[in-house]
Amino acid sequence: MSRRSPASGHRPEDGSQDSRLATHDAAAKPPYHMPFDEFRRHGHEVVDWVADYLESVGDRPITPDVKPGDIRALLPESAPERPEPFEDVMRDLDEIIMPGITHWQSPGWFGFFPANSSPPSILGELVSAGLSTQGMMWSTSPAASELESVVADWLVDLLGLPETWKTTGPGGGVIQMSASDSTHLAFVIAREQVEGPAESKVLYASNQSHSSIEKGAKIAGFKQVRLIGIDDEYALDAAELRRTIVDDLAAGLKPTTVVSNVGTTGTTAVDPVRSIGEIAREYGLWHHVDAAYAGTAMICEEFRHHQDGLELADSYTFNPHKWMFTNFDCNLFYVADRKPLIDTMSILPPYLRDEASESGQVINYRDWHVPLGRRFRALKLWFVIRSYGAEGIRYHVREHHRLATDLAARVERHSSLELIAPTPFGLVSFRHVDGDEATNALAAAINESGWAHVSPSTIEDRRFVRVSIGQTYTTAEHVDRLWDLIAARA
Ligand SMILES: *Cc1c(COP(=O)(O)O)cnc(C)c1O
Repeated sequence: MSRRSPASGHRPEDGSQDSRLATHDAAAKPPYHMPFDEFRRHGHEVVDWVADYLESVGDRPITPDVKPGDIRALLPESAPERPEPFEDVMRDLDEIIMPGITHWQSPGWFGFFPANSSPPSILGELVSAGLSTQGMMWSTSPAASELESVVADWLVDLLGLPETWKTTGPGGGVIQMSASDSTHLAFVIAREQVEGPAESKVLYASNQSHSSIEKGAKIAGFKQVRLIGIDDEYALDAAELRRTIVDDLAAGLKPTTVVSNVGTTGTTAVDPVRSIGEIAREYGLWHHVDAAYAGTAMICEEFRHHQDGLELADSYTFNPHKWMFTNFDCNLFYVADRKPLIDTMSILPPYLRDEASESGQVINYRDWHVPLGRRFRALKLWFVIRSYGAEGIRYHVREHHRLATDLAARVERHSSLELIAPTPFGLVSFRHVDGDEATNALAAAINESGWAHVSPSTIEDRRFVRVSIGQTYTTAEHVDRLWDLIAARA
């Protein structure tokens, strides 16, 4: 990395490099736009840049060697007054920005969960930026709303979700920025279904739930969140849920909503969705299902037993931006019945009224979440599903699952290692039998390799290593290499 002082380089204040501008683009004078012929040229260059990057990202160290403030120190303190050549921007991208990037698209990425991407997704994103349309209402871009409904409906079939969740039925799906937004929204709707003061309303979820559950509860105004205990596979204990609800009712509180996890973030544990759904029906709670990561797996029928009971859910969320080859942001939020959603979210000032909306024949997605403006995110998902086909996505999900299962078997056979949880999807969770220190050392050794990256975690006060297999380009070769590294250090 070439280090320069912030004052040096390409932003002369004394005009000493102004000769550069003479050879540079027409964009350096009014009206300052990049001419379309240059846009075409730079556009092709940037696509080449991205292709080169994805082709070779496995050769880069995954985490950057920088300290806080290192990148900032290389950037000017103020924005340029004079237009700068695009070449300079690209050079600084290579020299200043890239050395500070964490390479989530490396095939050696086994950290957190995947945030994968793919060429069709990137191209869809490019087209979406090119159109830069606002799809808040049907009438503000009819194709944006209709394609979003179609893709959401396709996914109902592809993932084996309840038929009634299609936009052609009483329910429907909408694309949101993140699972956190969807969960927050589910809690706001749930809150509106129950009368009484905020203090009395109670939300229930397993103690393995993602942080977005507690955060969403807080933003939605819940004062009472009960984190329910788990069984030995880290799935919610339904008997404890029922007891807690009964106790709360006896105390005069109002049980309002409960979450089922299909694939927790810690260990991909699967809560008993059907039992939780039955309890929710019995006591009148809103039942939200968080399948942020594992939802993608349901494209293969053999995983669907994990979501048995979904017809007893009121809302559901999953992230194509994790494991479905669609770059962030792309989350799906489904409701079994869209009326409570729209009743909760619709605010209708005069400037948003129009004939199409009055006719009741269209979906205005602005009423399906918090923001008004919305980008055309359905496009990249549509590009992905059409380019891979359902069979292409299934192939990769099965392959990632196979690689994870193989790795789990090797861990199990190793005398110094032990699995701490099952591997229902693509995550292998294990620890060193010598304890936390040895487990931390193992994770550190993997990450110090540079080419592989894991996110160790803690469960029930014990450290463990999480190997999450799901990056778009991860193959058996990468997992074998990871295993060699683990076996050599364990
Ligand atoms: C990743 C994850 C989330 C959060 O997803 P965002 O889209 O980043 O908000 C929520 N729940 C679970 C189970 C997750 O794994």
